[in-house]
Amino acid sequence: MADLLREIPVFLFYFKIGHIRNDMAKYIFVTGGVTSSLGKGIIAASLAKLLQARGFTVTIQKLDPYINVDPGTLNPYEHGECYVTNDGAETDLDLGHYERFLGIPTSQANNVTTGRIYQTVINKEREGAYLGKTVQVIPHITDEIKRRITLLGQDNKFDIIITEIGGTVGDIESLPYIESIRQMQWEMGRENCVVVHLTLIPYLKAAKELKTKPTQHSVKLMNENGLAPDIIVCRTEEPINGDIKRKIALFCNVTTDAVIEAADADTIYDVPLLMMRENLDVIVLDKLKMNLRHEPDLKQWKEFLNKLKNPTKTVNIGLVGKYVELQDAYKSILEAFVHAGAMNECKVKVHNVHSEYLTPENVKSSLSGLDGILVAPGFGNRGIEGKIEAIKYAREHKIPFFGICLGMQCCVIEFARNVLKLEAANSTEMDIHTPYPVIDLMENQKNIIQMGGTMRLGAYDCEIENNTLAFKVYEKNFISERHRHRWEFNNSFIEQFEKAGMKFSGKNPNSGLVEIIELTHHPFFIGAQFHPELKSTVENPHPLFKYFVKAALENKN
Ligand code: GLN
Repeated sequence: MADLLREIPVFLFYFKIGHIRNDMAKYIFVTGGVTSSLGKGIIAASLAKLLQARGFTVTIQKLDPYINVDPGTLNPYEHGECYVTNDGAETDLDLGHYERFLGIPTSQANNVTTGRIYQTVINKEREGAYLGKTVQVIPHITDEIKRRITLLGQDNKFDIIITEIGGTVGDIESLPYIESIRQMQWEMGRENCVVVHLTLIPYLKAAKELKTKPTQHSVKLMNENGLAPDIIVCRTEEPINGDIKRKIALFCNVTTDAVIEAADADTIYDVPLLMMRENLDVIVLDKLKMNLRHEPDLKQWKEFLNKLKNPTKTVNIGLVGKYVELQDAYKSILEAFVHAGAMNECKVKVHNVHSEYLTPENVKSSLSGLDGILVAPGFGNRGIEGKIEAIKYAREHKIPFFGICLGMQCCVIEFARNVLKLEAANSTEMDIHTPYPVIDLMENQKNIIQMGGTMRLGAYDCEIENNTLAFKVYEKNFISERHRHRWEFNNSFIEQFEKAGMKFSGKNPNSGLVEIIELTHHPFFIGAQFHPELKSTVENPHPLFKYFVKAALENKN
């Protein structure tokens, strides 16, 4: 009885705040103001890294306010790279940063779009879950948003969940998200829900002044919706002094120590250290009423940075693709080169080669001087013939070569046409009537009419044969890598290819599908049906990239 009485005040406390929590996680929200592209993802990942380095378990989630159910159907010009998780979710490229910084996998739960929220609510409505009720943005959409946020906090897997809200405060699409955060703060208390607002402090050259007004306005916009930031992170090209910090603090109603400078950095991997210098982690933990535990242990991170900043040699890699004019389209590949370069203590200079403009006439002048060539993933016909030209050049001139997904499929087409003399060999993605469909759809893909989320997606096992280049690279027989494609190597051609010197060194142990190809009479020629770039992290560079850079270095010397 005494025990029961002691529980009553606790119960009343939860009753008062309106919500009985079934998790003990703390929540941090990262919002953006003034403009887009301020680097919310990098700030979120850097904060997470610092908290992780203090011994907390942390994960990061991105909420995207667009209506697509996921970015899988968006083209890279619209949205940059589509990042794929182990569980096969097609997600925002920020999840790549989260994994590269934290070294832990994300999942479907880490990326939610407005489309997915509405889809869930509308499906529930059709099932009759709201019978008799009008379904509305508040409470039904906001409840579903809150459910998706707190999903990650269940099972006590994480001490802290960081949720990044895509878009900019003031966007019509963002409103339900801002309202959901407001409700969560009310329900859980501010000490369990902290809002970090990332904003821009522009520098006016003519006036020689940093301007705080846009930040004040974006905070006002938030205030109009009942939400107030706890911490303001200021992106700036010039250092912000104490006076400016006090001004921002006063007009945005935060403590002065909660105004953080985020100056431009040489590399995104500097940002955790910059944020540590500004005490972002300490202030966040203070607001969350959490113990600091210990100083961030960033030994490995600093070793990486040290190598990254002091390369002893340079290597030139050609990146052959059709989206090369857009930085974000090959984000994970570029970052994997940063990791692999540091590991080899070498600067990897990536040269963009537009596959659409590569021809038999200009291939030599376009690719000569490169120490290694990578042919990128992709979809559809555009730029295919240029990719095939690049592969022929790398094969014949014995230049270290690495093909990823469509890049690997193009190796197969090139080999079929130029070595096996199967002219007009192709993938049925490019030519449905090809007489030699060396890359083809599997039976289970043939009748698919719905495009979203129906590719071969996510992690699949691969068994590697002994005495192969793949084995030398991975140093093991069983690996798991992430996929995102519909087409596959057509196994009815295996024997013909093998006889002519192509090795199928990695296969899926259950389906027999070809996952890795390589050439025997070549110093380094490898193609992967999967996307190794998605698993390269700062503290664990991907072995394929590591070896490819090493092979390119050896070729150079
Ligand atoms: N278009 C190819 C397929 O769907 C390759 C996809 C990719 O490169 N990610 O199979």
